[in-house]
Amino acid sequence: MITNLPQGVSGKPPYDDNNIFARILRGEVPCRKVHDDDFALAFHDINPQAPAHILVIPKGRYVSFADFSSTASDEEILGFIRALGTIARGLGYEESGYRLLANAGPDSHQEVPHFHVHLFAGKPLGPMLVR
Ligand code: 5GP
Repeated sequence: MITNLPQGVSGKPPYDDNNIFARILRGEVPCRKVHDDDFALAFHDINPQAPAHILVIPKGRYVSFADFSSTASDEEILGFIRALGTIARGLGYEESGYRLLANAGPDSHQEVPHFHVHLFAGKPLGPMLVR
């Protein structure tokens, strides 16, 4: 038996249609939207860890990066990655820089079981990981 796993979701299907990002996608829960297209929705994190902390999520039902990268169509993957770049450019962080981060599974402390990429920006972000 594995003990002392950090709290976090498994990152594996099945997809839970009641997760908070699914509810945001359906418009049941409000969000501060910064981008919306066929492949991605981006909105401000409710608990920001940097001056800009944006969450970018695909429109489809994918639990984690592992799920998205193996089961999404080429069109969805391309559209999502293009949207990430468009969002970062649109927010004006290409010059100063930004960090993208995707948690997947328990060790990463993924909390929400809908694949998402965090975009952090707006100040020097320091070392990559807390030691
Ligand atoms: P994870 O740990 O799964 O990578 O990150 C989940 C993120 O979702 C956290 O940074 C958390 O603050 C954010 N979050 C959780 N619930 C909500 C919500 O209802 N609205 C928004 N905008 N962000 C949320």
